[in-house]
Amino acid sequence: ATPTSIMVGTGKGAENGILIKGADSLELAHKIQTIVLDKTGTVTQGRPTVTHYTTIRGTANGNELALLKLAGSLEQNSEHPLAEAVVQYAKSQGATLVSPSDFEAMAGSGVQGQVEGHWVQIGTHRWMTELGIDTQRLNDVWEQLEQSGKTAVWLAVDGQIEAIMGIADAVKPSSVSAIRALQKMGLEVVMLTGDNRRTAEVIAHEVNIQRVMAEVRPDQKADQVMALQQEGKLVAMVGDGINDAPALAQADVGMAIGTGTDVAIAASDITLISGDLWGIVTAIQLSHATIRNIQ
Ligand code: ADP
Ligand code: MG
Repeated sequence: ATPTSIMVGTGKGAENGILIKGADSLELAHKIQTIVLDKTGTVTQGRPTVTHYTTIRGTANGNELALLKLAGSLEQNSEHPLAEAVVQYAKSQGATLVSPSDFEAMAGSGVQGQVEGHWVQIGTHRWMTELGIDTQRLNDVWEQLEQSGKTAVWLAVDGQIEAIMGIADAVKPSSVSAIRALQKMGLEVVMLTGDNRRTAEVIAHEVNIQRVMAEVRPDQKADQVMALQQEGKLVAMVGDGINDAPALAQADVGMAIGTGTDVAIAASDITLISGDLWGIVTAIQLSHATIRNIQ
């Protein structure tokens, strides 16, 4: 491509809220065959909210609030978007939070630590099972939550399940139409997430995505992109999180959500400033136009 056509393309991108780092991505984007979308913060708004809370022992003796204090206190130390939702919910219910005396984040699983002498674990069902913690008494609630597209977050105290929360994160209004436009352009759209399969499938269904890679650990996201490339596809990855950075770098074209983390933006070739998925469509159209001007 000529430097002039690249400059024109880059300039038009900027006018449309699309920041393009190098000439390569602008030349490649029109050849993309597969688009991998991260779920949380990319397809969805990335503003998770606790909409459901059930404890095993119910409301007796202020038990609900006491457990929220433990959960909110521990999650204060986490940078995960779900943690923020738990902290906000605990505060909104009147819990007074304290500093955990011990804290550890378990990537792709949850968090654990010590709060007021109690050993607290918050995270996925898979992790609870790995820890040998019995979830039986809340399994009905768990199923309902995931079937309605919510992320279930389990709370264990001193090795026993005590409560479950349902966290909702709405799909961006523009995601449905943007994904349909990409599919009409002949692209395969895949969703990639660390979240559980059942929740992921419900969200994917809402936006008409057929192929879902769920329960992917943070260090495996790049491998999943590589697997698609090994199918012979030219792959674009779109994401917002620290977790997504290696996958963004691995993809032939990495696109970051502008409202996402700096790490994701640094690892990508293109930044979609507003985070609207229509930016992907525009970027591909720009690439087509740039190439046409050259030939
Ligand atoms: P995502 O791709 O959705 O960002 P992650 O790999 O970061 O997912 O995490 C996978 C799952 O682990 C989350 O969906 C959540 O269920 C659980 N998890 C991770 N961190 C936390 C946390 N701080 N509090 C509660 N649950 C967590
Ligand atoms: Mg994300």
